[in-house]
Amino acid sequence: MEEKGRIGIPRALMFYRYLPLWRPFFERLGWRVKISDGARQKEKIIYFEDSCLPMKLLVTHAVQLKDKVDHLFIPRLVSIHRTYIMCPKFRGAPDIVRLATEGNVSILDETIDLRKGGMSLLQTFLRIGEKLGASRQESKRAFREAEKSFSKFQKDWVDRINRLPTAQLFEMDVPMSPVRKKAPFRIAFIGHPYNLFDTDINKDLLALAKSLQMEIVTSDLLSEKEIDREVSDLSKEIYWSSGREIVGSLFHFLSDGVDGVVFLTSFKCGIDALLQEFIKRRLKVQGRASVPLLILSLDEHTGREGLTTRLEAFRDVVEEQKKLQSSNVARSDEPKVNQVQINYK
Ligand code: SF4
Repeated sequence: MEEKGRIGIPRALMFYRYLPLWRPFFERLGWRVKISDGARQKEKIIYFEDSCLPMKLLVTHAVQLKDKVDHLFIPRLVSIHRTYIMCPKFRGAPDIVRLATEGNVSILDETIDLRKGGMSLLQTFLRIGEKLGASRQESKRAFREAEKSFSKFQKDWVDRINRLPTAQLFEMDVPMSPVRKKAPFRIAFIGHPYNLFDTDINKDLLALAKSLQMEIVTSDLLSEKEIDREVSDLSKEIYWSSGREIVGSLFHFLSDGVDGVVFLTSFKCGIDALLQEFIKRRLKVQGRASVPLLILSLDEHTGREGLTTRLEAFRDVVEEQKKLQSSNVARSDEPKVNQVQINYK
């Protein structure tokens, strides 16, 4: 098929979940997808007041792409679940990028709001297709094929996360390294997908975790139903979808017997600040404080050395805890040394 032009997708925010859906849709309509490179050095990050690092990175990547593409894809993400909403900053993301790029590039900013019903995602992509000059039928076919490829991607997730370098996690058709011997420590990594998978944010903590013999599990594995079940007995609703996912997956992994939990948070993120407190209290109330919990607060000043030291210390705590369990020493209800919180401010 003749190439119709280029669509730029910034390597930021929900790129770290939905690229395997977005990319095939555009490619099947005949557009070449161009992804921005990483920011890599903090000097390259575009600063604007009072924003979290993930939003700064969105702007940085968009500016990097703007002269190389015909359109930038920055969807207005209102809701990715049937009932709950995204952080309000996602709604403003296309407008922030429009300001930063001074109106010099066309922005595909269709709204994604799954509260509007089962067909709403298809409708959004039909509108995007129309803007790109595709017929309804072409867009529908492209969307259905993209969905198939996304569900294959999700099925392979456990293998992907443990057998691919972080930078290739969202690429299709890359050869995986051979199956490794089962790692002795099963650790749940929870947090917004961009905090978990953007190596500019976390300095590739996942690679470090693998080198420390950790098997990684994340909430990407869990269905919306599973998350809902886990949070159903909370006395107050969590309205943010990312907050529900983080708390729901934490509860799920704890009952599933993980050896430890690492929670990656964004400095300047109100949702994360609230969740941290909530999670710590909840673990204590449920007598689960003896599951080691490491909370890392990340921003552009975070250094790899600091993260390495903390993760190594955490691994020692996990190992110690496992030894205690296997020698049948009763767990203490007190949190003691096993909650390690690190802030870089
Ligand atoms: S949820 Fe937090 S980290 Fe994510 S965009 Fe909103 S404020 Fe930033």
